[in-house]
Amino acid sequence: MQLQHIIWHLEHLAPPAYQESYDNSGLQVGLPEAEISGVLVALDVTEQVLDEAEARGANLIVMHHPLLFKGLKRISNATAIERIVWKAIQKNIALYAIHTNLDNMMQGVNAILARKLGLQPPQILVPQADVLSKLQVYVPEPAAAAVLEALFNAGAGQIGSYAECSYRQSGTGTFRPLPEAHPAIGTAGGPRENLPELNLQVLVPRHLEQAVIAAMKAAHPYEEVAYDLIRLANTHPYQGAGMIGMLPEPEAIPQFLERVKKALDTGCIRYTRPGHTTIQKVAICGGAGASFLKAALRAGADAYLTGDFKYHEFFDGEDRILIADVGHWESEQHTTELLVDYLRQKLPNFAVHPAGSITNPVHYFH
Ligand SMILES: [Zn+2]
Repeated sequence: MQLQHIIWHLEHLAPPAYQESYDNSGLQVGLPEAEISGVLVALDVTEQVLDEAEARGANLIVMHHPLLFKGLKRISNATAIERIVWKAIQKNIALYAIHTNLDNMMQGVNAILARKLGLQPPQILVPQADVLSKLQVYVPEPAAAAVLEALFNAGAGQIGSYAECSYRQSGTGTFRPLPEAHPAIGTAGGPRENLPELNLQVLVPRHLEQAVIAAMKAAHPYEEVAYDLIRLANTHPYQGAGMIGMLPEPEAIPQFLERVKKALDTGCIRYTRPGHTTIQKVAICGGAGASFLKAALRAGADAYLTGDFKYHEFFDGEDRILIADVGHWESEQHTTELLVDYLRQKLPNFAVHPAGSITNPVHYFH
């Protein structure tokens, strides 16, 4: 199977257009047309993970954390990153990262964490901004049905559980074809046309903008298609950072911590003691989520579970929320299972393995 075919599925799950600006998700090492014999899924790529891939006959590693964030000045053996790139190329193993774009998905990193913790219904904690546009196009009435169909087929007009959402207004369009024009209606060098036109409006998510505009132009009869693509201030209700949901019943703090310990198979949780004694509304963010504490407080969460809290940041919860720092790796460990299940479902009869190597560099001595 070609690498680009597997990438197509991964980018359907989490389009790279939704990664954060500092991120570097996507293909990091390898050729899109390479023939892939098997996939190993890991949270991080290490030399050990590369060896494991080789031993299992997998020549693609799908990893959550990118190996490359910034440019390498050389590829030798001075740092772990250089050695991994060198070794991956030598062993003919491709590396693909699916990072903050997967964090931001409704079916991503936090969805599986919410499921493991038993939170219902999981909702996005910080909806993503700057990813929705309104497309309005002016179409002569007889062509409106075909253009609308093309927009819908390209994925425009979807809002949550509703597809084919649109709005239309009728009015009059004018144009005067210049001598060099090839007008579908009217004559080159002729008089001004006044035509009944419809203004069709649909919502377009960022990753589909180019495809939707191309489909619109292909279906539109005019040589010059008049349209406006307007970036909206609306946030995306089904994409963004972190999640929030409810436990089935309020739980005493020790009971809640026990639940977390069990769900994440960890022996250590760093936590703060809030003023309240029970927990039911829980905000979560897999990975380093300290920056979303304010959002968890605003949402009225009883507890906020994430990783990578610093000493002073624990004070920011005051006594209003229980902060549980479960560790970065621990909070994201189930992402491997999510990706393996997804790929096995999309690529039945193809070898997809979860990595057995534990890549967490942090150990606890107890
Ligand atoms: Zn992470």
